[in-house]
Amino acid sequence: MRVVLVGPPGAGKGTQAQFIASHLSIPKISTGDIFRANVSGGTELGRLAKEYMDRGDLVPDEVTVAMVRDRLSEDDAKEGFLLDGFPRNVPQAEVLKKMLAEFGTSLDVVLNLVVEDDEVVRRLAGRRTCRSCGKVWHLVFDPPATEGVCDACGGELFQRDDDREETIRRRLEVYQEQTAPLISFYADEGILQGVDATGPVEEITHRAMSALRRFAD
Ligand SMILES: [Zn+2]
Repeated sequence: MRVVLVGPPGAGKGTQAQFIASHLSIPKISTGDIFRANVSGGTELGRLAKEYMDRGDLVPDEVTVAMVRDRLSEDDAKEGFLLDGFPRNVPQAEVLKKMLAEFGTSLDVVLNLVVEDDEVVRRLAGRRTCRSCGKVWHLVFDPPATEGVCDACGGELFQRDDDREETIRRRLEVYQEQTAPLISFYADEGILQGVDATGPVEEITHRAMSALRRFAD
């Protein structure tokens, strides 16, 4: 199966990507992994991407697209793949569609992990990070024995700026703005499938797998 996974920050996308890909015996292909592989492998594209990243600039679409093309051309992706982090926008989605058509294939399904903003805030704003060892705790889901103290090393716990409610809400707004057109694009293509991403991790995986089975033929 050829699957794209989308979802807001805090939806547990990385975890689900891993589980779903392993259930389907297909490679999980994330843009982060592709970037790192190209940079550490010293490829032409990797050097180019690194120049942009070192300047603090966004890597241009054509560089990202070229890396994705290289990765999808590898043997292990011939029978299917799960893409995480690509496409990010409609132009990239159109390029992906053309690319797959050249390979004589197409996407089967786009899974959209759906979580309410308030639930994302509840998940992320409860995180506390240890100043000494960097371990991440959660006030509700994984609290340390003593409030404000890291069980692992005795260090002081603090809330990272990224985990503050206003930061999370801003990131969610940006995400919705950028992703809404992409979601409509795939809805129009008839391959969009929403998955309720609340509740235990295994239940979410189970829902995602049931949704995928409806598209597998
Ligand atoms: Zn610690």
